[in-house]
Amino acid sequence: MRCPICKKEVEPGSSYVPFCGDRCRLFDLANWATDKYGFPASAEPEPKAEDEER
Ligand SMILES: [Zn+2]
Repeated sequence: MRCPICKKEVEPGSSYVPFCGDRCRLFDLANWATDKYGFPASAEPEPKAEDEER
């Protein structure tokens, strides 16, 4: 079984299954929340490239 976030092998019987650990579990939650509310969670910088080109 592999973690859907980082593709690392997941310990069978881990309390975080299907994730490899708390980090990926939270990451997935953040993705889900981002999808639901339409906010960028935080990690991804907003695209401001167009402004900087002027
Ligand atoms: Zn993972």
